[in-house]
Amino acid sequence: MPEIHNIKLGITNCYLIKENDKLMLIDAGIDGKEKRFEKRLHALGYNLNDIDILIITHVHFDHAGIAAWLKERSRLKIIVHKNEAHILSRGLTPIPAGTNFFGKILNILGNIFNFLFRVKATEADIVADKLMPLKELGFSASIIPTPGHTEGSVSVLFDSGECFVGDCCISMFNKKDVFPPFANNATELLKSWKILLDSEAKSFYPGHGKVISPMVLEQSYRKNKNRF
Ligand SMILES: [Zn+2]
Ligand SMILES: [Zn+2]
Repeated sequence: MPEIHNIKLGITNCYLIKENDKLMLIDAGIDGKEKRFEKRLHALGYNLNDIDILIITHVHFDHAGIAAWLKERSRLKIIVHKNEAHILSRGLTPIPAGTNFFGKILNILGNIFNFLFRVKATEADIVADKLMPLKELGFSASIIPTPGHTEGSVSVLFDSGECFVGDCCISMFNKKDVFPPFANNATELLKSWKILLDSEAKSFYPGHGKVISPMVLEQSYRKNKNRF
């Protein structure tokens, strides 16, 4: 089983995962949180140069904020889905569509104040497309495309059952219904949920909020599957 540390940057969970002698970071928080990240990393006994790979679950300002900064200071390789590599290389920060009233209001505000949500442009080293085993990079895990929140959203599933899902499901506002308040394609998102439910995953680690059990995801799936 991998060793999992949650480095919280603002509202975002960034997961530092150690397996054997390899170090993976899932998501790179928010612009301006660089020093906090480095401090937490040092407290765990690591340096920037110890990180082997950074997997960005999707290129939103709260998941790719310090990616460029990390890449400039370390040897890590950035992995993103092919549908979002161009967003990262242009430093764009699209705001996804709202799936409920709250999300719709935030989408409007987000588009007005778009300049506040920054991602510094950087290049991906590895572009994922379909299911991608990470064995060659030293991890007993795979990248699974789980689109819906964004077109190029991915999850990372370890063979031991831990699954890191980005904003595919979140447990921040409502612990019982983990449907995210934003999704560009809610129907696709529900299909991705089915993929996650049919996987061997034992627990889902979201980009926001606490760890989600398969039972809670299943109940949320049943509640939302006919909504869209
Ligand atoms: Zn997010
Ligand atoms: Zn997002």
